[in-house]
Amino acid sequence: MSKVANPSQWVRDDILALSAYPVPSSLGFIKLDAMENPYTWPESLKQNWLQKLGSVDVNRYPDPQAEGVKQRLREAMGIDERFEILLGNGSDEIIQLIALALAKPGATILAPEPSFVMYKMIATFAQMTYRGFALNPDFSLDREAFLNEIDATQPAVVFLAQPNNPTGTIYQEQDLKAILDRAPGLVVIDEAYMAFSDCDSLPLLEQYPNLVVMRTVSKMGLAGLRLGFLVGDKQWLAEFEKIRLPYNINVLTQASAEFALEHYDVLQEQAQTICEERQQLRESLLQIEGLEVFQSHANFLLVRTPESKARDLFEGLKAQKVLIKCLDGAHPLLKDCLRVTVGTPQENQAFMQAFTKALASL
Ligand SMILES: *Cc1c(COP(=O)(O)O)cnc(C)c1O
Repeated sequence: MSKVANPSQWVRDDILALSAYPVPSSLGFIKLDAMENPYTWPESLKQNWLQKLGSVDVNRYPDPQAEGVKQRLREAMGIDERFEILLGNGSDEIIQLIALALAKPGATILAPEPSFVMYKMIATFAQMTYRGFALNPDFSLDREAFLNEIDATQPAVVFLAQPNNPTGTIYQEQDLKAILDRAPGLVVIDEAYMAFSDCDSLPLLEQYPNLVVMRTVSKMGLAGLRLGFLVGDKQWLAEFEKIRLPYNINVLTQASAEFALEHYDVLQEQAQTICEERQQLRESLLQIEGLEVFQSHANFLLVRTPESKARDLFEGLKAQKVLIKCLDGAHPLLKDCLRVTVGTPQENQAFMQAFTKALASL
């Protein structure tokens, strides 16, 4: 019999200490937990898409540069030829590439908190130092204090989600510029939710070679494709490109993304509808006494419940087959907070009904 190796003897201690990112099962639920676009495509569009997929050669490796996708991205979003594009299997993978490339011993990732949890998780995976800087209680940024934090920590990279998840807030342009002026290393502006806001940091690229702008098609209706992208100066992107696995964007994703971007207007219209529904949903929630509903520039709303009620409300919704995100405990500033993704009008109504019922039975 061969000797059985014990993983705990060989796996890095910091990885042994982690637990896997929990993704709850959502089968049979109204799914308002993950900022997905609830809308599908018109039937005719679907047919054309399937036709295109039918001509894809799955026996061949994908185009390693995915030039077709990049070209469609440039056209849809007006990305100038002077800037490079790097594609990732979701922007999660791009965060990982950036961290891997910058993970010199002792190198630091700095990000305001609460923000996207992947920045911290991936810092850990890459054995980087992670530094979270607390936002104000209203989730605005204390600019001077943050600049001091930059001076003190000398971060290899600063991550700013614009709009921010899970708060839905945005940073002021003068804050972004002050950070870009002060940061000694790279600054990543993560525009995952740009479709639901007026945010567009691409113009800042002209002025700031230490900026890269990260986007994704996930929140605008293509979460299943896994396609994120980074736009910026060749000097940075060429380094990240070296560690990108050659075929990280598969043929079906490439074909589907090209097709979807040729119909970018459909995605934008859906985003517009979601923004209108966000307003409706916010107004409905504001009718309920004792709730704080934060203004949001994204496709979700952050809600502060009466003290110590968030978990019970989350469970009460779950019992009624509505899945949202409970953020109580995720960060001190998120005490008593829930996050709900904006769904279709029917889903939002079902959520409101279930929420009212859950509140009444507390
Ligand atoms: C959802 C999200 C992402 C991840 O996007 P993928 O492209 O699906 O990996 C990145 N940043 C923020 C702030 C997000 O909320």
